[in-house]
Amino acid sequence: MAVIYFIQQDFLTGGTLWEGDQNFVFHAYENFLESKINPTAMIIGYKDSILAQQLLFKLRANKAFCLTPMFTEVKVGGVAALLADGVAPSPCVARRKAQTMQASLHLMQSLNLNDQDLRLLGYLYSRQETCLMPIADWHTRGVYYYPLLRALSAHDTDEITWLDSMSLRGLIHPSELIDKVRFCQQCNSAHLNYIEVCPVCTGINIGESKMSDDEGERACHQCKHHFQAPKTMAKCMACHYINHLEQLITKSVHSFTISEVGVQLLAAISKAKELGEFVISGIASHQHSKLTACNK
Ligand SMILES: [Zn+2]
Ligand SMILES: [Zn+2]
Repeated sequence: MAVIYFIQQDFLTGGTLWEGDQNFVFHAYENFLESKINPTAMIIGYKDSILAQQLLFKLRANKAFCLTPMFTEVKVGGVAALLADGVAPSPCVARRKAQTMQASLHLMQSLNLNDQDLRLLGYLYSRQETCLMPIADWHTRGVYYYPLLRALSAHDTDEITWLDSMSLRGLIHPSELIDKVRFCQQCNSAHLNYIEVCPVCTGINIGESKMSDDEGERACHQCKHHFQAPKTMAKCMACHYINHLEQLITKSVHSFTISEVGVQLLAAISKAKELGEFVISGIASHQHSKLTACNK
């Protein structure tokens, strides 16, 4: 039951860190890799949240550790929270929490984790109360992305195409509706600027009409047309195409859980390894607890 504890060098306080011959302290991911230790659990003690997030991402993206229980030393939010398995302030707590995951993690040992589908299904199956959650990030083209999906995906994978494919094959299913996002019809970017334009020439140079007594009347400085209500259009900040609102593509953003088909796929694979019955008997209770957890 080896527990790995990551700590930033600047914060190392000396030799008083957790005693015990099964606790190992590392400063950097690279040093840990060199050690060749196969950990039961890991605790991320980095104080810098961006560094913690980057470390968790590297660990999850490594096939050798993608399913390993990983905790943060203190409560975190954002991407780090979506990549970690919660909080464990000490190796004792980390061991206890990891032990509750051991039965399902043990079954996952027989999976070929070179397959990204199995990495994701294995992850969701072994985390009974975890959904695949999206997070809003304006840097991304679609505004939302799934940090865990990104970490577990193969290098050349388009994450959203993969997610759609997993959902289409019924291996995962939508759990909670998180948001609805509108996309440019030309390039699928969600970075849109909503602008009021002249309903005749669609020019943006419009203002209040000075010629009319009619309060609220507007005038186009480009085509000189007078009108009451301007038209709203969505200019794409990525490709500059000006979309009519009805042209925009609206997509729902969901969280996802493993489906019964997904669990059965894992069962079928494990069955080949003579572990099937255990998995199948777990399907009903697993599905129940998962849905309850995600619907909270
Ligand atoms: Zn566009
Ligand atoms: Zn006009």
